[in-house]
Amino acid sequence: MAASVFLAKAGCSVRLYEKNEKLGKKLYITGKGRCNFTNACPEEEFLSHVVTNPRFLYSAFAGFTNHDAIRFFEELGLQTKVERGNRAFPVSDHSSDVIRVLERELRACGVKVSLHTEVRELITEEVGVDVSAAEDIMDEAGIHVSAAEEQFPEKQSKEADDSGKTGKKHRQDTGRRISGVRLADGTEVSADAVIVATGGLSYPSTGSTGDGYRFAEQLAVPVTVCRPSLVPLLTEESYIPQLQGLSLKNVTLTIRYGKKGKKTFQEFGEMLFTHEGISGPLVLSASAVTGASLQEAGRLPAEIDLKPALTEEQLDARILREFEAGRNKALKNVIASLLPAKMRPVIMACAGIAPEKPVHDITKAERQKLIAVIKAFPLTICGQGSYREAVITQGGVSVKAVNPKTMECKTVRGLYFIGEVLDLDAVTGGFNLQIAWSTAHAAAEAIAEAAE
Ligand SMILES: Cc1cc2nc3c(=O)[nH]c(=O)nc-3n(C[C@H](O)[C@H](O)[C@H](O)COP(=O)(O)OP(=O)(O)OC[C@H]3O[C@@H](n4cnc5c(N)ncnc54)[C@H](O)[C@@H]3O)c2cc1C
Repeated sequence: MAASVFLAKAGCSVRLYEKNEKLGKKLYITGKGRCNFTNACPEEEFLSHVVTNPRFLYSAFAGFTNHDAIRFFEELGLQTKVERGNRAFPVSDHSSDVIRVLERELRACGVKVSLHTEVRELITEEVGVDVSAAEDIMDEAGIHVSAAEEQFPEKQSKEADDSGKTGKKHRQDTGRRISGVRLADGTEVSADAVIVATGGLSYPSTGSTGDGYRFAEQLAVPVTVCRPSLVPLLTEESYIPQLQGLSLKNVTLTIRYGKKGKKTFQEFGEMLFTHEGISGPLVLSASAVTGASLQEAGRLPAEIDLKPALTEEQLDARILREFEAGRNKALKNVIASLLPAKMRPVIMACAGIAPEKPVHDITKAERQKLIAVIKAFPLTICGQGSYREAVITQGGVSVKAVNPKTMECKTVRGLYFIGEVLDLDAVTGGFNLQIAWSTAHAAAEAIAEAAE
């Protein structure tokens, strides 16, 4: 939608194909229905929140930053606000307003929108361009660069024989270029440029069914391994289902990897327990950086520090005070002030202490075991949730196959990939939509320039 607006404003004739019955089904559910459409952090900080291939994004982001996105939506008539963590939302808290302003602008710029229309295939053609004529013109004008070579330096230009009086040789610049798309009903539509903005594989009910990866593969454009990301994690321990529904604030989650137990993730924040594992903001962020190691190792040891503000010594002192105050009471009652109710029986079981045991009978070794479990509540991560619950897809069209300035495919001229279909992803907070806006802008600008 954004790419169409940018293109149409630059004077291009644009047709937008959407296989759903309406536009923006995924956008509608973003930010829990509020659409966290970008993150207003300082521009120089933005790329540090991009998990995969941040350097690829450098140029596109510089061309259309997070602050440009806020300005763009404000100019379309959307009132915006910035909340905790620099998350930008519409003032109305309705994602439908983001879709509404985009739809209004699409109409205003004359973009032809075809709903219920699935693109089934991309159509390409071999090109054999005689570039020597163009070079003659450029020679006369004093320009000494072949535009084709500059844009496609990796393409081999074939030299053909020429008996010409000028002594010059005819050169053939060959390759593949896009010529249009084939729709599901068989209709062929010709186009000078095609932008693939089909999204990833997550929440397939919104229309993201990986069609763009298929398009790429059919044209031998490499696609990296895809996996769900920003997704709940599955755990092995039998005590986790007992904690279902419990949410924890101000805890530190650590995930380890490898024989030496190296920390692959450690962050402070909020999380919750589900019937089969853990979820919440902290866990979604963890999933973005642990996906590959989990795939490799099969399982990853993890721990939750339930009292990160206290050192072990401080926690020991606190527990001793509680024990002193309730010396004849059972452990389960004394630790009531320390831990949430659902957590207590699980913690006592992990520490191997009977809940009914009077605190004056608890040994130093038992107390230390209790402290160890509170400071490092053990978990084993054994899998990830599915695409049905993943906020994004990690992996996609390889950035090595795409020009970072223009989003144009290096091997098929006139073909552009933008948004989540690319092997780019970021943590939560509005960064993933900004990837979509920035890459859309880069592609639209390049197409408009080429058209000129
Ligand atoms: C629950 C949830 C919440 C999220 N919240 C946020 C958030 O608050 N902030 C944020 O930054 N990111 C968020 N994201 C991620 C963000 O929504 C995506 O990264 C973003 O929408 C990607 O944009 P896109 O245009 O590349 O793809 P999409 O938004 O997935 O759009 C692709 C469109 O292409 C259409 N399509 C696919 N194949 C075809 C075809 N063959 N022919 C025609 N049409 C086709 C689909 O129907 C779809 O409408 C969230 C994701 C989810 C699932």
